Amino acid sequence: MSMNYNDVWEFGAVSDCCGAGVYLNGICSNCNDHCTPVEENDEEEKMELTRKNLNMVFDYINEQLSDVDGRGEFDNESGLLNAVERTVEMFNENMEEE
Ligand SMILES: [Zn+2]
Repeated sequence: MSMNYNDVWEFGAVSDCCGAGVYLNGICSNCNDHCTPVEENDEEEKMELTRKNLNMVFDYINEQLSDVDGRGEFDNESGLLNAVERTVEMFNENMEEE
């Protein structure tokens, strides 16, 4: 019994030709031709670099930076990049829910 690859999807990948789903054998599900699977990651950059977004991120991190009592989501050891990344991710997730 041979395995039918057309039933198996490449997880989290889209074809470089059409941006459609990709089968495990490297065939684009839209044009049925060989393609290069690319990672589906267009969701990562929903948040544009605008002054409004920048202020939103800044305000949130500033608010969540732990005070002397140790409250808040971030502390000095969080690292700036890490804190920004988590904050942007959070805003992106909130936007999806709208
Ligand atoms: Zn295609």
